[in-house]
Formats: sequence, structure tokens, C-alpha cells
Amino acid sequence: MKKKKISILGSTGSIGTQAIEVINAMPECFEVVSLSAGDNVDLIKKQIKQLKVKNVCVKSEENARILQKEFSHVNVVYGDAGLDEICSDKENDLVLVAVSGKVGLKPTLKAIENGIDIALANKETLVMAGDIVMKLACEKGVQILPVDSEHSAIHQCIKNPEDVQRLIITASGGPFRNKTVDEIKKATVEETLHHPKWNMGKKITIDSATLMNKGLEVIEAHHLFRMNYEDIKVVVHPQSIVHSAVEYYDGSVIAQLGFPSMHIPIQYALSYPERLKGIKTNSFDFVKASRLDFEEPDLDKFPCLKLAYEAGKAGGTYTVCLNAANEEAVYAFLAGKISLWQIYEITKEILENYVSVSVPDIDTIIEHDKITREKAKKLINL
Ligand code: NDP
Ligand code: MG
Repeated sequence: MKKKKISILGSTGSIGTQAIEVINAMPECFEVVSLSAGDNVDLIKKQIKQLKVKNVCVKSEENARILQKEFSHVNVVYGDAGLDEICSDKENDLVLVAVSGKVGLKPTLKAIENGIDIALANKETLVMAGDIVMKLACEKGVQILPVDSEHSAIHQCIKNPEDVQRLIITASGGPFRNKTVDEIKKATVEETLHHPKWNMGKKITIDSATLMNKGLEVIEAHHLFRMNYEDIKVVVHPQSIVHSAVEYYDGSVIAQLGFPSMHIPIQYALSYPERLKGIKTNSFDFVKASRLDFEEPDLDKFPCLKLAYEAGKAGGTYTVCLNAANEEAVYAFLAGKISLWQIYEITKEILENYVSVSVPDIDTIIEHDKITREKAKKLINL
């Protein structure tokens, strides 16, 4: 494979650090052009020392100054303008967008405008602006390669998109699959952060416990694979072995399997269209996997999934509202201000009183995101 030049947005996060492990396992295949972090200066320092990078971006000007002093050979930038600069560098073959939250949207668009392929972990980008992002990618001939394990699985299972009848997205069910509504209502932050199958950043771990994560993934799949919501089915699969599946018109179902590991979808996105030996993972063992269980998601226990389907079907900026309200509520839960169940109640209340714009531009999306967050904060602090 020709050496690929890659930039990583969110290099200090769960996906970002695993991406660096993948890259380090195959130095002959990948070269890192730029790294970006939020506030974790200690880790980005280690990464700069380990990888020969040209540019580094951090969130604050102050941290940028500290880093520039220590690493005079590196171009250190900061904030939104810094991310834009990294994503405008045409030396990149691929940008991995692994920041969390809405901060991923604008740099993704910038990289697409510059004709750079995207490995997309940040689901908020498509939830907020899927129509705009996919249209621009199509116009620019840019590939959007999914990193989310379910979407990576579907991408690997689809040969001819026009032959696909249905997508089947699997969900582990999270830590509260076997709990009652009353028990879920009393869940602590610690219990909620204890995901049975995946080790991820805090925001997505809370979303996995409410199944909002699965809802966001349904919206993501709708945009990535141009499927109607009616043709995207969620099924709970506690073993997390089947990462998702595609049903064709002739009745064939093709699924992608493996023990849970984000290294595989990350590596697949980075090396696509090639498959590399790369990072060592144990061979899959059907006998060890032993059994695969499947069940319907319980929408009474996990009503956030229903909210996400409704927002997706309603279209326009409803999904912007869903995403922003949920994100603010999740941070409030993590800060101990509200209960887990209130994440649903707050998001539902905001959606019910929301007036959507049916065909928004990016500025409208950003504005609606901001307005929704203000509304959520007011409700949280009532
Ligand atoms: P983490 O919270 O572990 O990491 C987030 C990264 O984004 C960190 O590098 C953080 O920097 C950076 N960041 C956060 N806010 C800002 C900001 N305002 N400006 C610049 N950088 C910022 O998240 P994950 O790695 O778990 O998730 C990243 C994305 O990938 C999310 O959208 C998530 O939904 C998606 N995803 C994650 C999966 C997983 O297994 N973790 C699976 C599928 C999708 P710092 O820490 O330095 O402050
Ligand atoms: Mg996922």
C-alpha cells in the first residue's frame, strides 16, 4: 500500500489513542501529518515526541503557547481556526475525525471542501448536518469512511447499495439491559459509566446506557447508506459479536462478526480499500463465542431510542435539536445535576416545543444548536 498521510482530530481520546496504536503497528503504511487535542497537554506532548508531526492543534491559545515553546520545530495552532488550518492542508490523504461533540462538524466540512477523504468517528457531524456533509462529499468525490463499529460492519457487508433492503444495527443493550425502569431511574454516574462491552469516552458511554447512542447511529446510518428510517432495524445483541448486518432483496443477510475491538474498524477505515495485517488481534473463535442472543429493544425502558427515530423521520433541524439537548443533559448528568432518566425527559420536552427548519444551511444548524443548548441549560437549572 502507498504510504497514507493522515491527520487525527481528537488524538488524545479513546478513538484517537487507538488510532495511534494502529498507525504505530504499521509505520510503513501511515504517516501522521497533524494531531489535535482538546485540553490534555500531557498526552499530546508524549504523542508529539513519539510521532514526527508537522502541525499540532489544541483548544486554548495558552496551551498552544506552552507547546510552541517546547516544540519549536512543530507548527502549533489552536481553536476552531487551528482545526480549519489542519483540515486545509492538502498534504493529507485522510483526516480521522475523532473529536467528541459538535466541534467535529466544521473541520469535517473544511477537509471535504479540500478534497480530503474522511474517516469519521464523530457521529454528531452526520446527526447535525448529514444532508449537507454527504452532498458536499459527493460533489467533491470525497469518501466518508465510517469508524463507528456498526457502520464499519455495514460498509464491509454492502457490495451493491441498490440491492439492499434493510440494515440491521446491533446494540449491546448497555449496563441496564436487565434492569427495571425504577432501577434505571436510580442509576448512579458510576454504574452508568460501567459499559459491559466497550471502553469509550464518557459522553458516548452514557448515550450507550440510554440507547440514545443507538438512536444517533440510526440517523448516522440513514445518511451514510441513504436508507429510509423504516428500513433500519435495531436489535439488541448482548454479546456484541455481530457488529451489524445487511439484508438484501433476495433474502440474504450478510453480517460482520468479531470480538469487540475498535482497532478493527479504525484500521479498516484508515487502510480502505485495502485490508492490512496490522495490529494483532486474536483469531475469531466460534466455539469460544459459543452463543449469540438477539432481542427487541425495550422502548419503555429506553425511550431515547424512540426519540431519535422520531427526530430522524421528522428531518430538518429536529436531529440538531435532539443532539444538542441530549448532549447538554448528558453533561448535566455527569456533573450530578440531573438523574439519568431526566436526560430523556429534558430532550423530549425540548423536542416537543421545537420549531424545525426543513432545509437548513450550516449557519442555521449552528444557531439552532446554540439555541437548543441554552434552552436545555435553563431546564437543567430549574
Ligand atoms: P473521548 O472523550 O475519549 O475523546 C474526545 C477527543 O476529542 C479528545 O481528544 C478530546 O481532547 C477532543 N476534544 C473534545 N472536545 C474538544 C474541543 N472542543 N476541541 C478540540 N478537541 C476536543 O471520545 P471518544 O474517543 O470516545 O469519541 C470520539 C467520537 O467518536 C465521538 O463522537 C463518539 O461518539 C465517536 N465514537 C466513539 C467510539 C468509541 O469506541 N470510543 C465508538 C464509535 C464512535 P482532550 O481529551 O485533549 O480534551
Ligand atoms: Mg457504535
